[in-house]
Parts: sequence; structure tokens; C-alpha cells
Amino acid sequence: MRKAIIKRFILVMVGAMVFSGILFYTTVSNTMHKNTKEDMRLSLIMLDNSLDYTEPLMNQIKILSTTLDQKQARYTILDAKGDVIADTGTMDIENLENHFEREEVQKALSDGIGYAKRYSTTIKTQMLYTAVTSSKSDYILRIAIPYSGNSEYLFWLLPSIMISITVSALLAVVMADKLTKTITKPLQQIAYIMDNYKEENPELSLPNTPYEELNIITQSAKKMSESVEKYTEEIEFERMVRQEFFSNASHELKTPITSIRGYTEILLSEFTPDEATREEFLKRILTETESMTNLINDILLISRLETRDYEIETTEIRMAMLLQDIIKTLQPIAAKQGVDLQTECKPAIIKANKQHMRELLLNLIGNAIKYNKPNGMVYVTITTIGRDLLIEVKDTGIGIPKESRVRVFERFYRVDKGRSRKVDGTGLGLSIVKHIVNFYGGNITLESKLNVGSTFTVRLPEIKANM
Ligand code: ADP
Repeated sequence: MRKAIIKRFILVMVGAMVFSGILFYTTVSNTMHKNTKEDMRLSLIMLDNSLDYTEPLMNQIKILSTTLDQKQARYTILDAKGDVIADTGTMDIENLENHFEREEVQKALSDGIGYAKRYSTTIKTQMLYTAVTSSKSDYILRIAIPYSGNSEYLFWLLPSIMISITVSALLAVVMADKLTKTITKPLQQIAYIMDNYKEENPELSLPNTPYEELNIITQSAKKMSESVEKYTEEIEFERMVRQEFFSNASHELKTPITSIRGYTEILLSEFTPDEATREEFLKRILTETESMTNLINDILLISRLETRDYEIETTEIRMAMLLQDIIKTLQPIAAKQGVDLQTECKPAIIKANKQHMRELLLNLIGNAIKYNKPNGMVYVTITTIGRDLLIEVKDTGIGIPKESRVRVFERFYRVDKGRSRKVDGTGLGLSIVKHIVNFYGGNITLESKLNVGSTFTVRLPEIKANM
């Protein structure tokens, strides 16, 4: 990359120099050409002033021919008809032809001054001619100098042009080298850091460069590494959660299985228990099977709510009827615990999945009964705010300690393992509630005071059916 940049830099630089060289040359040579023409005119005027036209002219300009090299300049004096009267050239005047038709002579006769450029057959070189009419007589004075055309001044200007091109090219090399180094160095650094990128250490400490474009690359690389880091963390967290869930679930299943196995073994052993004990054992086996079924159903429900990969059937649900139905189911349990249930339900028809709403109410009210005190109270209130549904389940129970208030929504979390086991629960109830609330984009809050009671409030947005 460095070589390519330097090469291009030099190419552009030399190109620019050649272009400016040509421009410089044409401008300077044009100026020089103009100056030369002016010099020629002045020398003719000076000559005109110094000549005495009453005396033989040839003798007067002969002096010029001795001081002038034939190659430098040639003066000619013509009469009004174009015949050569005097000439500083080497040829005899008699042999010189009439100059009347010459371009510069014609122009001088019409405008007072005339210029021409052409090949001289007399001295066989390209010449520049200037002719003026004399101010003191009828004569025409003419000067001719060798002129090689456009390349005339090349000899003078070429060295300086070449020197400036060489110096600029050298400068270009040095500058391009320096510049490419400042670009390639951070690029190499970035490449090195990216090459040594490790998943275990996803933090990328990329340098800040003086170039905005490079900084954009480093910024997006940093952002990418950050999202990789976040993603890795998320995957790791999910892996841990799953692992914990499996170990918890197997642990939860192991307890009822061990009991069932124990009772079955006794029932099958030689020491056949009496009828009453047999019945008792069979009843226990049934209870354990029921709790296993509950656990498995809860696990299935959670996993379905998490994956959301199946069509959820929604129907219009009359909340008052659903609540009544649930209370009917829970009433015997409440009565057994000596807990009184009080409900208040505003007329509300919602559009949701019936099982979801059932699970939500069953778990919240079920917990309010389970974790209550004898002669305790449970208040259930269902209202609406706009199209939102508000469910409040309040109890005068044992309360939840502050440190557990967030954790009760975790899977298999129980405030007091021993106590909860006695009151029979999977430890998944509130986790299911939370999943259902999230499914409908709602929120759940918990307020609790130890030994005073707890209040769970659920708000489900935009769920009221359009009537
Ligand atoms: P569980 O099946 O054990 O009831 P939950 O997920 O429904 O599982 O509840 C988690 C834990 O939160 C319970 O074990 C209990 O300790 C506590 N808890 C839930 N509801 C209440 C309540 N209304 N009053 C006091 N403690 C509660």
C-alpha cells in the first residue's frame, strides 16, 4: 500500500510539474518574444535617428556590419520601391532582389511597422523580421534576427524547469513516504490488535488516529466487539439459567419419585400392611403423582411462554365469570385454612388466552391463601383503566422479606424451602405469573410487610375487548 501511494503521489506531482512547466515556458517565451520584437523596433528607431540620409547610407551602416555578427542581426535599408539601398549582410546589394513584396515591408508601408517570421533563402535560417518606415525620409529600415520559432528560448528555460521538476519529485517522495507512514502505522496497529483478538478478552483497545475515516473503522470495530461481548455474556447467562433450571427440575421431580418408590416397595414387600395403611399409602402415591403432574405442566407452560413459537388462542373472557369460577375452586382450600375471600370485579371483557388468565389468578390467589394466617383475609379487586386491566390480590398473610421480593419471581425460588414444601407448591407459580404478564406486555408489582401481608398488582395494557 505504501509503495502504491508513493508511486501515485510522484506520478501526480510530476504530472502537475510538467503541466506547470509547459505553462511557464509558453508564458515566458511569449513575453520574451514580445520583448525581442520591441527591442528590434527600438533599435530601428535609433538607427533611423542616427542616419544622415543625405550621405551614402551603405558607408554609414557598414560600421554596424563590422560590429555585428551576421548570425546576430542584419540591417537592411530599402527605398520606397523596395530596392535594397544598404545591407549589413555579406551579399552584394546588386545581387539582392527587390523586397517590396515582403510581408513586413508591406505592413510597415501600411501601418508604419511590420513583423514577419519566415525562412530566409539568403542566409538559410528561420528569421524574425521587423520593418519600420523612416521618420526622416521615404526609406524603409529593416532588421532581421535568427529565430527558431517556439523552441527559441527552450535552451534558456529548460535547465530551471528540469531542476524544479527534479526537486519537486524528490520532495514528493519524501512527503509521500511520511504521509503513508502516518496512515499505514495506525492501520498496522489496528490489524495487529484485531489479529490478536480473543474471545476471552473481547475488549478492543484500538488507537485513536488523526484520520476521521480510520476512526470510523475503529469505532465500528469497538462497537462490534462490544456487541460480541454482550452476546457472549447473554449466551453464557442463558446457559447458566438453563443448567440451573434442569438441575432444579430434576431435583424437584426426584422427591415425589423417591416417595412413590418407597410406598410401592412397602406395598410390594412381604410385610403386607393392613387395609387402612394400604389405602393411606395409595392416597400418598396419588398425591405425589398429582404434584409431579402439576410440576411438569408448569414446566411445559413456562417453556411454551418462553419460546412463543405456537399460536396462542385468544377468546373474549368475562373477568367476573372467570374470577367466580376460580374462587369456587379455591374456596374449599381457603375454608380449610380458615381464610376468608373477598372479591370485587368491575364488569370487564378482555381478549386473551383463557388458560393464561386462569393460571395468573389461580397462582396469585392460591399463594394469598397458602401463605396466609388463620382467620386471615384475601381481597381480590379487578378494575379497568382505559383499555388496561388491573388485578390486585391483597392478603393479610405472613409477608415476604425484603431481600426475597425480587427473587420470588425466579423459577423454583421459595422464601423458606422447608415451609413452602409443607404448603405444597412447585416454586414455579410466580414465575409463570411473571411470564404471562410479560407475554401481554404488562407489569407486576409487589408490596409486602412481614407478618402483615402482601399485595400483588398486575397491569395488562390494551387488553380490553372492543365492544
Ligand atoms: P410456590 O409454588 O412455592 O408457591 P411461587 O413461585 O408461587 O412458588 O412463590 C414463590 C415463593 O414466594 C413461595 O414459595 C413463597 O415463599 C413466596 N410467596 C408467594 N406468594 C406469597 C404471598 N402471598 N405471601 C407470602 N409469601 C409468598
